[in-house]
Amino acid sequence: MSSSGAQHLPVADRWFEVVPIDDALTLIREPHVASFVRGNIWYLRGERLDLVIDTGLGVASLSAELAAGFSRRPPVAVVTHAHLDHLGSAHEFAEVWAHELEPTELPGQGTLLGEELNEILGGHGCSIGVPNGLLVEALPHPDYVPADYALVPVEPTRRLVDGEVIDLGDRRLTVVHLPGHTAGSIGLYDRDNRALFTGDVVYDPPDLLDELVHSNVDDYVRSMRRLLTLDVSIVYPGHGDPFAGERLRDIAGAYVARRAAG
Ligand SMILES: [Zn+2]
Repeated sequence: MSSSGAQHLPVADRWFEVVPIDDALTLIREPHVASFVRGNIWYLRGERLDLVIDTGLGVASLSAELAAGFSRRPPVAVVTHAHLDHLGSAHEFAEVWAHELEPTELPGQGTLLGEELNEILGGHGCSIGVPNGLLVEALPHPDYVPADYALVPVEPTRRLVDGEVIDLGDRRLTVVHLPGHTAGSIGLYDRDNRALFTGDVVYDPPDLLDELVHSNVDDYVRSMRRLLTLDVSIVYPGHGDPFAGERLRDIAGAYVARRAAG
């Protein structure tokens, strides 16, 4: 890294971190952003179609990273929901798919300032626990100005509904509508491989966000109950590391016990 005088922040040698999971799946992360907005980008390659499941903050170009690092056909971007750390780079892709209830074309304001993000996502001035200050610890290039960050609206090229199947050729992902965190949050379920991409519906540690401005606890309880019915052995979450199906059932069960009672 080298120092950037104007921002007093270092410039990252490389913005994205690339973690191979298996022959078909790669995890891409943004290590220089605060953990609250450090979303997972899942790059899943199929026989006839590739996906990026969520697209990061959009501080640096994800499509350029993919083109440089993998030199395959352009993937379809599937966004699990429209929060800034998942939708950020979606506008860079020709194909963007999202649930029909998720407002990717009106995602609201984006910011890299913790105080502002608390206001935007928490609503009514209530804090949702975003750390104060700047949410990036480095810059993608010396001229980057964090104060100019904006979340770019995206018109989906395909509006997904519950139960429809995304066919990658050698792998089929079923769209599972899981409202609660947001109205149009989705998971993608690979029944044959017992794998589930969960976005922000479930991750571990489970400091799950169900009191954001567009959240709904009753919907969240129903979504967790639904997750308990799926045969899952591996979870690829929107934040943090992959984990086993038993852990998914522990987290969903505990959530239902806590919220359905309250
Ligand atoms: Zn979210």
